[in-house]
Amino acid sequence: MPSSSRCKISWADVMARKQKAKPIFNTVALIGVGLIGSSLARVMRRERLAERIVGCARTRRTRSKCRELGLVDATFATPRQAAKGADLIIICSPVSTYSAIGEEMAPSLKPGAIVTDVGSVKRAVMDALAPHIPDGVHLVPGHPVAGTEHSGPEAGFAELFEGRWTILTPAEGAHHAAVRDVAKLWRRAGSYVEIMDADHHDLVLAVTSHLPHLIAYNIVGTAADLESVTASEVFKYSAGGFRDFTRIAASDPVMWRDVFLHNRDAVLEMLGRFNEDLSALQRAIRWGQGDALENLFVRTRAIRRGVIEAGQAEEPGAGDSEPKAASRRPKKGRGAAAAKAAKVRCSTSRSGR
Ligand code: NAP
Repeated sequence: MPSSSRCKISWADVMARKQKAKPIFNTVALIGVGLIGSSLARVMRRERLAERIVGCARTRRTRSKCRELGLVDATFATPRQAAKGADLIIICSPVSTYSAIGEEMAPSLKPGAIVTDVGSVKRAVMDALAPHIPDGVHLVPGHPVAGTEHSGPEAGFAELFEGRWTILTPAEGAHHAAVRDVAKLWRRAGSYVEIMDADHHDLVLAVTSHLPHLIAYNIVGTAADLESVTASEVFKYSAGGFRDFTRIAASDPVMWRDVFLHNRDAVLEMLGRFNEDLSALQRAIRWGQGDALENLFVRTRAIRRGVIEAGQAEEPGAGDSEPKAASRRPKKGRGAAAAKAAKVRCSTSRSGR
């Protein structure tokens, strides 16, 4: 092979790689290090997105687990201690804790710091945090539409956000460089980024995430309460469709309680529409209107195809049952680790939340 063809890396490539390897932030503080916080810690470490990562969790158990897993460089029991001196603070705790966290950490936020979050609802988050953000500190709310039904620092993995969307909902007139840097963090974590109005986010997620979870919680609850069908029959024949609902209905109870309480209007609006459509289906079944049923099922099958084409499907049997990271070409030097991590996660279904 001629020597020139062995070395085809241009100067621009070298500079781009150097730029890519440069941390975006000096110190990042994670307030809450559960599924989402620990996944962020892992990917920030892997991609060297921060010089230093500190974490705050409520319980001693979670704090020591974070240190044991090497997720963070230091842990703190209070948001105030963790946020002190941080360039980026990412709130990764249940939404109902935001207001108290904002109030508590406000005095220790340094000028120029950025506060962001990962909460599944956005208008309520902005209302809870904005009053506590001092002048000179920038608020850039965010939501990675990615998750699993598991919780806690052990449940996270660095590939969680790969190929998923993260929605940022900065207020009008938000600091441009702060939005740019938060977007950069998510892109380098493997995510696509979209900027959206907070109310619109809440409406979209009400239909794509919140309502499906409510339906799953409800159907599993209904089955559990049935007297004419035994629990063992429910478990035994769950592959008939019920199984998929049980996975969603195993999602964290506190997180989902907060989602419904903090996105009440949008969820109730979608629930109203859903009930009307369900009544129409009920009528069609009662009156033997097969065409109406079939027409709907043809339309919904096309929607499934759209989800697959958008790269957001991960159901067994769809040819895409492994987390995306496993099917992607591994990055140099971490192929084996990524493949191993993906293998371990085979029992975990990654989904948008
Ligand atoms: P998680 O695994 O249950 O972790 C929550 C973390 O928050 C834990 O480390 C917990 O500490 C900590 N925490 C709770 N209350 C706190 C407080 N008052 N002060 C400081 N830390 C506190 O939850 P998660 O699934 O990562 O969800 C976190 C956020 O991500 C939620 O806002 C949720 O809406 C959003 N989100 C979740 C998903 C998903 O699929 N799970 C997807 C997208 C967005 P302890 O362990 O010590 O209690």
